[in-house]
Amino acid sequence: MKRLLPTSTAGSLPKPSWLAEPEKLWSLWKLQDSELIDGKQDALRLALQEQQQAGIDIVSDGEQTRQHFVTTFIEHLNGVDFEKRETVRIRNRYDASVPTVVGAVSRQQPVFVDDARFLRSLTDQPIKWALPGPMTMIDTLYDAHYKSREKLAWEFAKILNEEAKELEAAGVDIIQFDEPAFNVFFDEVNDWGVATLERALEGLKCETAVHICYGYGIKANTEWKKTLGSEWRQYEEAFPKLQQSKIDIISLECHNSRVPIDLLELIRGKKVMVGAIDVATNSIETPEEVADTLRKALQFVDADKLYPSTNCGMTPLSRQVARGKLNALSAGAEIVRKELLGK
Ligand SMILES: [Zn+2]
Repeated sequence: MKRLLPTSTAGSLPKPSWLAEPEKLWSLWKLQDSELIDGKQDALRLALQEQQQAGIDIVSDGEQTRQHFVTTFIEHLNGVDFEKRETVRIRNRYDASVPTVVGAVSRQQPVFVDDARFLRSLTDQPIKWALPGPMTMIDTLYDAHYKSREKLAWEFAKILNEEAKELEAAGVDIIQFDEPAFNVFFDEVNDWGVATLERALEGLKCETAVHICYGYGIKANTEWKKTLGSEWRQYEEAFPKLQQSKIDIISLECHNSRVPIDLLELIRGKKVMVGAIDVATNSIETPEEVADTLRKALQFVDADKLYPSTNCGMTPLSRQVARGKLNALSAGAEIVRKELLGK
């Protein structure tokens, strides 16, 4: 990436209200069949245009073709029964009714590759594509087949690797694995979480990223955050292993969070997507607030490795708020860019 402080989002953007009910997770599609296919493509075009108008440097599909960042991928796999549901505790935080793994898991066909090819056809800008990470996938399922979280994670890692290689061939520049579970299951992260992540990116020549956050601004997450105390040191547990890993970029929540910024020292040498936009509030950051978060991160991340971004996805926000936040991100990055180049 030649541009200094290239901006991007963590991934998702709100969907248009004609496509799905807005400001909601898992919201149902409002269109069907071929109308749904066309509608998703139109929404992807809009999401791209909104990023471009805000001056975002590394663009995404805004996750317009998926209902949810984990379940949509799993829906395309063999071995998972969506009719057979069990209630499990997601990331030790809230109960949800989830599908059951009933047999060996495998990928029937590419999941997002056509969407990625479509996005590639619309722009020459660098593209980042998000996939769920293996550990976050197993945490959103009931496993009645492997009966081992680790075994299932290795199986998913192989499947993710097949998908990632095809996304790379479709022209994706950065493949990102979303692993919010890395902030919860520290022993497993160190035992096999990072290893399965590395399996998922094996053989890729494009850049790779892992996104680890404190989640959307939904109630279950806000309640959980209240229990974490005055300093959020969760990153400290996975960082040493990640610093040693093959992953190129680490995407983190930094703005308005209680994460001590000096934890970034533990991943010195990696590229860091610094979350400088809070996705858990409707108030729009000023460019100066964004710049302030980036300046703090610059104490621990070399300027050529700092990628300004959002704390997490923006899917539950209104389009107007998301647009304002994209603009603030761009403007804040520009302030710091000028400061750095003026030196
Ligand atoms: Zn996130």
